[in-house]
Amino acid sequence: MVSEHTSQAPGLVSIVGAGPGAIDLITLRGRDALREAQVVIHDALANTDLLHFCPAGIEVHDVGKRCNSHRVTQEHIHELMIAAARAGKRVVRLKGGDPSVFARLSEETAALEAAGVPFEIVPGVTAACATAARLGVSLTSRDLAPGAVFVTGHECASRAAANPVDWAALARLNMTLCVYMGARELPAIAAKLIGAGMSPDTPLTVVANVSRPSESIRTGLLAEAAAFAAEDIGQPAMIFVGAVVGAARATSEIELASARRVAG
Ligand code: SAH
Repeated sequence: MVSEHTSQAPGLVSIVGAGPGAIDLITLRGRDALREAQVVIHDALANTDLLHFCPAGIEVHDVGKRCNSHRVTQEHIHELMIAAARAGKRVVRLKGGDPSVFARLSEETAALEAAGVPFEIVPGVTAACATAARLGVSLTSRDLAPGAVFVTGHECASRAAANPVDWAALARLNMTLCVYMGARELPAIAAKLIGAGMSPDTPLTVVANVSRPSESIRTGLLAEAAAFAAEDIGQPAMIFVGAVVGAARATSEIELASARRVAG
C-alpha cells in the first residue's frame, strides 16, 4: 500500500533537553535545533523563554500535562510530531531537563520509529545535576556514596501496580537518592526509608525551581521531612537524601548565619 504521505520527504524530530530552567543551561546543539525549528512541541517544565531562539511565527504546541489530569494525551503528542514531520517540517520536541530522565522518551521514540520518522536526541542538564551544581556537592563520592540513584517519588496509580519503587532496598544502598516528583510524597517516603533502617539523621535537601528566579533551598534531616515538604507541593522540586548533602547543609547554615548577621 502506498501511503498518501510518501510524496513528501519526512522532516526531522529533534527531541531536545531544555535543561532545568535557566535558558543558558540548554546545549548549543539544542539551541541550534530551536533556531531551525518550524514546529515546537513543549512540556510544562521547559522554559518558554527558550522559544526566543526560534524563528518568528513558528507553530508552538504546549502539551504540558499532569499525572492525574492529563490535558493532552501521550498519543496526541505522537500524532502532532508525526504529522508535522510527515509534512516535511523540522520539529523540536522540547522537554525539561534531559529527555531520557522521567520524560517518556522511549514511548515517543517508539512511535516515531513505527511511523518511519527520522529523529535525533539532544541531551540536557537533568534536574539532579543542576541541583548538585547549585549545592556544590558531588552526587557520587569515594568516601560517602559509591553511586547515585534517580528515582520517582510519585507513582501514578497505573504505574505503581506495575513497577513499584522498593524504598526498603534503596534505604540499604548507601547511595545518594535523587528523588524526582517527590515533594508531595516526601513525608511518606521519609517514613518508608526510616522504617527500613535508614538513619533519621541522614541529611536531606529539597531544592525547588533550581536555576530559576524562584529557586528555594531547604535543608535538614530525614526525620524532619514532614516539616518542609508542604511548601514545595506544586513546584518542581528535587529531593536529595544521603551523606553527600551534609556538605550542602553546612553551606546553607553558613548562609543562614550570615543572613542573621545582616538582620541584626
Ligand atoms: N526530564 C526532567 C525530569 C522530568 S520529571 C529532568 O531531566 O530534569 C519532573 C521532575 O523533575 C519534577 O517533579 C522535579 O522533581 C524535577 N525538576 C524538573 N525541573 C526542576 C527544577 N527546575 N528544580 C527542581 N526540580 C526540578
